[in-house]
Amino acid sequence: MLEPLNNLPEIARLRELIDRAKEIVITCHVSPDGDAIGSSLAMQRVMSRLKKIAWVVTPDLAPRSLGFLPGVHDIIAASQKPARARELMARADLVVCLDFNAIMRVDKLGDSLRTSPAPKVLIDHHLYPESFAEVIISRPEASSTCYLLYNVLCALGMDSLIDREAAECIYTGMMTDTGGFTYNSNDPGLYLVIAALLERGFDKDRIYKLVFDTSSETRLRLCGYALYKKMMVFPEHRAALITLSCEELAEFNYCKGDTESLVNRPLAMPGVVWSVFLREDEHGFVKVSTRSKGHFPVNKVCERHFGGGGHENAAGGEFYGSLDEAVAVLLEAMPEYDRYLPKSKK
Ligand code: 5GP
Ligand code: MN
Repeated sequence: MLEPLNNLPEIARLRELIDRAKEIVITCHVSPDGDAIGSSLAMQRVMSRLKKIAWVVTPDLAPRSLGFLPGVHDIIAASQKPARARELMARADLVVCLDFNAIMRVDKLGDSLRTSPAPKVLIDHHLYPESFAEVIISRPEASSTCYLLYNVLCALGMDSLIDREAAECIYTGMMTDTGGFTYNSNDPGLYLVIAALLERGFDKDRIYKLVFDTSSETRLRLCGYALYKKMMVFPEHRAALITLSCEELAEFNYCKGDTESLVNRPLAMPGVVWSVFLREDEHGFVKVSTRSKGHFPVNKVCERHFGGGGHENAAGGEFYGSLDEAVAVLLEAMPEYDRYLPKSKK
């Protein structure tokens, strides 16, 4: 259960800022996931019901798999409409930052966010939030920003403004950040929130199917290829690595989002504690994605070697060099992390 938020000064200040605002911009991290988009859209709906003009302005577009979320097509992505995104950021009188802990994570929106005269509020569950916002509600113990946001809205007395569509958005983020309630999901409070959300009458089974079990033929084949031909297992380090080059991705007609969750698959092997996926990006870098089980800190791996970060069990980064160089860096670093492996096998 999250500690109650009701009597916090942050909640009182947030209420004041919302009351005062006419036009609110809501933003989230680059390459947004279900939690980033779900929390942003839910916040937008609640703010709209308070008769605020509310915009979701993101660094780039939501993945196609989230195309079913109500309101997703009205998002202003800076990658598509940079001038509009800048303008909205500049004239907002409140900016709500969701699901990221550092300005760097909004990528090219960073300058507009930094220079916007509006007060900023940060609601997030990543470790070590930067202090760029006036109000910071950071709860790394929350498994998703959506779960935290629901609690914040309740503390603000705005839970009655969460309609069916907003409930669907919040549920989606809670579901995606816990892998469909398969990790970080033992907090009983999650299920109380889910019960309250389901009262609004959305179909959670449909959401699971759309997010986790919908694929194009080429995507299914790409995952099959990656696991069959491109997965290396390092039993001595209890690690697995998958790499995909631009050429391989092109062969399978790769679309953004097609390799989502691929990095989790090697963790199905009981002997594997951590998994790395290196995807060569057409823009001249390698996208690094890592996952682990137990207390193996993949965020440390990403911080130290790949200019990134994240959570203990899910982290990422970017490597500026070739795919082969990224592999070499990883292989050289692997023995350093043996000390984090659990003592018992399996
Ligand atoms: P994914 O592997 O799904 O792209 O990212 C998993 C988690 O790693 C994200 O929720 C985020 O916390 C973190 N992450 C991913 N990419 C980056 C990155 O480039 N920089 C930082 N700091 N964190 C990242
Ligand atoms: Mn999140």
